[in-house]
Amino acid sequence: MAQDDNKNFVGIDLGGTNIKVGVLNDVGETLAYVSTPTYVERGADDATQRMAAAVHEAIAKAGLKPENIARVGLGSPGTMDLPSGSLVRPSNLPGWDFFPIRDKLATYSGLPVTFAHDGPAAGFAEYWVGAGKGEEGLILLTLGTGVGCGIVLNGHVWNGTHSHGGESGHILIDTSENARWCKCGQRGHLEAYASATGVANRTIEYVEAEFKTSLTERVRGRNRNDEVPKMVFEEAEKGDELAIRIVKETARYLAYGMVSLIHTLDPSCMLLGGAMTFGGNETETGRLFLKSVDEEVRSRIFLHLAERLRIGYATLGNAAGYIGAAGLARQEWEENQNPYGARP
Ligand SMILES: [Zn+2]
Repeated sequence: MAQDDNKNFVGIDLGGTNIKVGVLNDVGETLAYVSTPTYVERGADDATQRMAAAVHEAIAKAGLKPENIARVGLGSPGTMDLPSGSLVRPSNLPGWDFFPIRDKLATYSGLPVTFAHDGPAAGFAEYWVGAGKGEEGLILLTLGTGVGCGIVLNGHVWNGTHSHGGESGHILIDTSENARWCKCGQRGHLEAYASATGVANRTIEYVEAEFKTSLTERVRGRNRNDEVPKMVFEEAEKGDELAIRIVKETARYLAYGMVSLIHTLDPSCMLLGGAMTFGGNETETGRLFLKSVDEEVRSRIFLHLAERLRIGYATLGNAAGYIGAAGLARQEWEENQNPYGARP
């Protein structure tokens, strides 16, 4: 079948810092890309108007016209209500509570919009064109400031009953009284241990406890902790024992969360993505991290699953958000075209 000139899709990844906009064709290739600052403090309506302008800028950059776009997908951080197209209380977008972002974007852009949660959208991107292409059951864990998750089962993202499916960063992995605080306000969640914030906090505690490590000079007296995971990575690459221990510990904590997910959903594939993967497949530390996760997970799950499950790194990097949003827009478009495939 010939490529339909009007079957292109726009994907948007709305973040607390930037709004990423990509124009993709029917097979998931990015034709054009535009990024613009979010300026959260200017409010949701202002950002949505600039988002619509960025959509049209990206369409023009791809050499297309608005009529060549079948649908727009908007991936947004939670919390949200997907059926009504509204944000609820997005923690990364203070002041944007209960903003009806889907319909506002449709009005400002003049294009139909599919609304998606950013974690599941990233998972869908890996399923559509990334490391989990065609997998029957895929779970992506995105390790960054927090721990995001996307679950794709039989070709569809699992959004949950109340738009909170896949909040797996909040799996309980430590039930002790002194368990770490998660930024959601509860103790002992995976995100408090395996996110960049968790790694930074654990590292600083080791340094304060005067462990012998090349990290001491670099970490002490800093008032910004967000660079600490990168320092751990750099010192691990040079062979610092404590840094390597922190990498392996992070793998173990992550494995605790993964074991619960695997026994619940029995996926064919688990992928790790995000900035906090110690360089991924490209570096010795990244490969050590994955190997440690792999060993920790397989030693803790049913043998039948351990023999079959695939564990690997995601491949789309920070493009996954907008690619997945476009992919979900494409899926909604396809299902509306085909009466037998339409959702009830
Ligand atoms: Zn939590």
